[in-house]
Amino acid sequence: MTSTDAAPAAPAAQTFTSLDPATGAVVGTHPIHDATAVQAAVDRARAEAPHWQALGYDGRKRALVRWRKLIARRMDELAALMARETGKPTGDALLETALAVDHLSWAAGHAEKVLKRRSVAPGLLMVNQAASVEYRPLGVVGVIGPWNYPVFTPMGSIAYALAAGNTVVFKPSEYTPGVGEWLARTFQEAVGRPVFQVVTGYGETGAALTAAGVDKVAFTGSTATGKRVMAACAETLTPVVIEAGGKDALIVADDADVAEAAEAALWGAAANAGQTCAGVERVYVHERVYDEFLDHLVRQAKDLEAKPGGQVGPITMPSQVDIIRRHVDDALARGGRALVGGPVPEGARFVQPTVLVDVPEDSSAVQEETFGPTVTVTRVKDMDEAVERANGTRYALGSTVFSQEHGMEIADRLRAGMTAINGVISFAGIPTLPFGGVGDSGFGRIHGPDGLREFTYPHAIARQRFKPAIALTTFRRTAKEEKQLTKVVRGLYARGKK
Ligand code: NDP
Repeated sequence: MTSTDAAPAAPAAQTFTSLDPATGAVVGTHPIHDATAVQAAVDRARAEAPHWQALGYDGRKRALVRWRKLIARRMDELAALMARETGKPTGDALLETALAVDHLSWAAGHAEKVLKRRSVAPGLLMVNQAASVEYRPLGVVGVIGPWNYPVFTPMGSIAYALAAGNTVVFKPSEYTPGVGEWLARTFQEAVGRPVFQVVTGYGETGAALTAAGVDKVAFTGSTATGKRVMAACAETLTPVVIEAGGKDALIVADDADVAEAAEAALWGAAANAGQTCAGVERVYVHERVYDEFLDHLVRQAKDLEAKPGGQVGPITMPSQVDIIRRHVDDALARGGRALVGGPVPEGARFVQPTVLVDVPEDSSAVQEETFGPTVTVTRVKDMDEAVERANGTRYALGSTVFSQEHGMEIADRLRAGMTAINGVISFAGIPTLPFGGVGDSGFGRIHGPDGLREFTYPHAIARQRFKPAIALTTFRRTAKEEKQLTKVVRGLYARGKK
């Protein structure tokens, strides 16, 4: 596949290929868009922005619904392409597409309600004013996406930015350019204008997008690249959303449904071959149920095999295998034990599900993002210790709690952008919930009303309804009026319990 039939982008001199990570076969050939081509796409998006904005909420909703229908009708095709470019099982790719379509639908359907001008209380001192606020589109949003969820993740920015009235230029990961082009091509089919375009290439293409004068950059990827993106954006005071990595913990309380907790831990750790930003990488289990939990987890993990056509696919990015190997080796060298899996063989593209115990808390397997189907399981004496350890990394993206009675209590104490109770990663599929992290996991939010507002700026209006009883904002203000003001403020604020 080439981008020649995709949404318009300037001709590119060079090309690159995306490969099937399971077989090494070429999936598609794509242009490497240089800075000139990226600038041309951003200029087109800028020229298109007034038209897109003039459509209003209804017009944009109709356009996005046409796109939604097209994606939903052809989701098999998208899932198959995604499966080839990432190596993930087609069923997982279908699930990812379904969730992305749901978010697109929600963003298109709720933009008006969340963003349109609404009245707010003017306050007692400004009671003569009618106050209102509206959230306006920023203009052109540059979206830079990762490869691990190449539809669901960028759609969290693309759909919400478009619904909020922005035009979008999207740079997919070099590992999933075909998926990015598919999205832009279907948008073009549904809408027929360059409201949403794709540019492909390596990191330089992403860097060019950050320097092309966009009004916001929505970046999803590693913390290290996120810092580079932010530094580049600082040059032009371009605002950024950074959705970066995670080291999510799952906590199992002594009143948990232990079998369910183990199943959730395994799926959270090994689904998508562990290449999930909000995947489970650490488990802290109350000592009273530790052995029982491990029995369940080990039994289930032994039944799971990473293999071609299996439920656990290959590691998409070859260099990630070295990081996984380093973390496992370090854990084992420092006294840890692998109850399932073990050292990752050189040259492997499939990493077997791995359960590590007795791993020191300061080891890389506990502190750094592994991004493989591995999980550490640690015994804790109580939930205080579980919470302290769960909160003990630089990352703070998602988290999970299993407890029949105390889920909310424990969740309230976790430093994380999201928490699932008695389920895993469930927050990501709920369009009304904001998604994002703190600390090294980034900042800003996609999804939900916060995700729509992320791609806007508030415009506040104060309209005088009648002349004020005490004229404050004039050089004609008198000493008498100042005294009246003092009296009013003391009357309002100097006494009382509230
Ligand atoms: P990377 O940081 O390697 O790349 C992310 C994107 O940035 C890619 O499109 C990449 O292009 C591009 N890029 C690389 N260098 C630059 C640059 N200097 N300027 C601008 N863009 C650049 O991340 P991965 O693709 O490896 O994704 C995995 C990471 O994403 C994990 O850490 C994961 O946790 C995180 N992630 C976070 C999510 C969240 O919502 N918090 C969701 C999903 C993933 P290219 O690929 O061509 O190099």
